[in-house]
Amino acid sequence: MVRVRFAPSPTGSLHLGGALTAVANRRFADERGGVLVLRIDDTDTAREVAGSEGEILRELAWLGISWDEGPVRQSERAERHREAGRAIGTPDEEGALRFQRTTLLRADGRPTYHLASVVDDLDLGITHVIRGKDLLPSTPLHEAIARALGAEPPEYLHHGLLVGNDGRKLSKREQAASLAGLRELGIPPEAVRAYLEELDLPRGDVRFDETRLRRLAVEALGALSDEELAARAGADERLGPALRGAHDLVEARALAEGIVTPPKPRPSGSPETLQRFRELRERAADDVEKDEAKEILRELKAVGGDLRALRLALTGAERGPELWTVLVALPRDEALRRADAAVRR
Ligand code: GLU
Repeated sequence: MVRVRFAPSPTGSLHLGGALTAVANRRFADERGGVLVLRIDDTDTAREVAGSEGEILRELAWLGISWDEGPVRQSERAERHREAGRAIGTPDEEGALRFQRTTLLRADGRPTYHLASVVDDLDLGITHVIRGKDLLPSTPLHEAIARALGAEPPEYLHHGLLVGNDGRKLSKREQAASLAGLRELGIPPEAVRAYLEELDLPRGDVRFDETRLRRLAVEALGALSDEELAARAGADERLGPALRGAHDLVEARALAEGIVTPPKPRPSGSPETLQRFRELRERAADDVEKDEAKEILRELKAVGGDLRALRLALTGAERGPELWTVLVALPRDEALRRADAAVRR
């Protein structure tokens, strides 16, 4: 039975590179009917950021990545790590326990990452360790520790890292580098997941391709229903059709805002159009659906109505979502109020 683990350190929001490791582990397990264990590598309290375990769990859920066991916290297994460290380590002058040239247990008894990681991989029955290439230099040591403990080490697979355009590791400062940053940019989780799935298990380093991610974001938003799209933008479901053109959720929220906020009343150059619109809109239901909305616009156009003036009166802008979607979004009273405000001046 294949058993893999994703083992983030609780040092803040998941890095896109870390999410790549998580996705790769989930897929590796799924393709083999295996199990994914979530492990929190919290041996280094100095680097820990309060609340990041919860944040990581929420981010995994956001990405749609589930785990089958855990979270297992290394901090809760320190006694077991010490026992293993004592079995194979030799004391140095400061009282730390060492193996080869590496510290396993600090003088104060705290286990290091190397020891804790190998002991946990063995105890959890991990068959394949899938992680980034940055950890490749540690692998011979990890294998040696496992063998010294009398066990056969798991198989190690290292994927290439996500790098910036300069070929260097994505810097934490770049907003697109963390899941929290991507969420703020309005990239839907489906797009992030699809992007990482596409990368699969890269052998070499890969340049982070924001253009590709944004294209996937457009596709992901396109696949949502109107209701879901509106909900993601925090808008009433009647605004769904109006948000269709958005490339990301930040844009969708801005479009919603543009419709919900009544425009500053400005005298219209085409009061006749607004008057005629009033009559047509008044006759229709509180809420109109697509066909009725289009019918109103058709009739308005048939009598030479100025649709640009109508848009200006309803939204305060010359351009924006298709006009019928604005009619669907605005309840009758609100639409009439806006039309009146542009006439009565
Ligand atoms: N906790 C380590 C990290 O976040 C990963 C450990 C491992 O995969 O062996 O970099």
